[in-house]
Amino acid sequence: MKPQPNVNSQYARDLTYAFHPYTNARAHEERGPIIMDHGKGVFVYDDQGNEYLEALAGLWSVGVGYGEERLVTAAAEQMRKLPYYHSFAHKANGPAIDLAEQLVKMTPERLARVFFANSGSEANDTVIKMVWYYNNAIGRPEKKKIVARIRGYHGITIASGSLTGLPWNHRDFDLPIANILHTACPHHYRFAMEGESEEEFASRLAGQFEQLILDEGPETIAAFIGEPVMGAGGVIVPPKTYWQKIQAICRKYDILVIADEVITGFGRTGTPFACERFDIDPDILVLSKQITSSYLPMSAVLFTDAFYQPIADNTAKIGTFGHGFTTSGHPVASAVALENLAIIQERDLFGNAARVGEYLQTRLRSAFSDHPLVGEIRGVGLIAAVELVADKASKRSFDPLGRLGAYFFDQGHKRGIIIRNVQDSMAICPPLVITEEEVDELVKRFGQTLDDALAWSR
Ligand code: PLP
Repeated sequence: MKPQPNVNSQYARDLTYAFHPYTNARAHEERGPIIMDHGKGVFVYDDQGNEYLEALAGLWSVGVGYGEERLVTAAAEQMRKLPYYHSFAHKANGPAIDLAEQLVKMTPERLARVFFANSGSEANDTVIKMVWYYNNAIGRPEKKKIVARIRGYHGITIASGSLTGLPWNHRDFDLPIANILHTACPHHYRFAMEGESEEEFASRLAGQFEQLILDEGPETIAAFIGEPVMGAGGVIVPPKTYWQKIQAICRKYDILVIADEVITGFGRTGTPFACERFDIDPDILVLSKQITSSYLPMSAVLFTDAFYQPIADNTAKIGTFGHGFTTSGHPVASAVALENLAIIQERDLFGNAARVGEYLQTRLRSAFSDHPLVGEIRGVGLIAAVELVADKASKRSFDPLGRLGAYFFDQGHKRGIIIRNVQDSMAICPPLVITEEEVDELVKRFGQTLDDALAWSR
């Protein structure tokens, strides 16, 4: 029987007052919330005392894990000193300056400056506006279209949600807006032709991208945006040579390369940034999530000096850059980000992500490759997905797609593990602090849930 909550309980008041993001509201009215209460390391605990291994690090984001006192102290100290200041009209604050310098120094070579926002979506909206502004500034007002990818994820605001290439982010929201195009998803397992190698598949996708540019007119295409490894679309690691080929086409037609590292930034794939791992040389880089381990909202857009100069000239012509958020460069979020980055460095969490990431990838494959439900195990570093199929040989999915994934997600909670189901792909992205013993526990709980799913599917 469902719990019969006291009308004053948090449970009842959530049902009465809240409308949840990314939630089926009617289902929520039936089943109610799981109320999270506290966390430590890779574990979180609900208000009933149940323990969960947070195998998705919240939303791919709690890099240093839960209960990190140093971030609490950093926030409290900055709160006491200067809890808020903005960065409009020549104002600055110490933590935001230090963070800007550190980000420029630690990210790929050509990136020279930072603009701060609060979420990945805001950052990507900022990017779109800056790209449009830039092309207006240099006298190319027709060069405005941005190419994103089917199954890519860049956020949910009107503009960033348009970049996102997932149907549920567009449906009934009247998206996408004009000037946003989507090219093919680089998922070899699903979309390669019979016998096509990764390199051949990458060449075919690059050819499709080039054809799209030619069909639209290269003079109308401003930028290409992609996650080095797709996250929310199902953890899709690009086929070999994909990024080199896409970048070469961008350079050929003077198209800006935007790397959205909101998930992959700060060690997730085993290198500080996934751009390094995949040889991406971006003109614009987008960061968020692990920048503060999501203890506070923060995002950053980094860009080259070549991109900055005409924009700066245009602000002088107009008199201002008419864009910015009340909380851009928030001093408390910046102080938390700086402390978070110090922890990452002191504890060698990039190294940990590489080493334990390798262990995770190996363990997942050795434990589950032969499981009757498992079609593909993919991933790199500390991000992975296990795709469930009805038939391994033909790769046939279950019908309806996503029903088994939804069962797996729910059942995982009963087994003490939180993953993310993207249709029937089960995404794993634990905190960067995870140890090999905790990976063993993750694999154990995942395996129990997988066996439950097998029994349920028969
Ligand atoms: N970009 C990527 C790659 C993301 O994964 C996300 C969120 O998951 C976003 C952008 C949007 O970030 P936010 O939810 O903070 O708006």
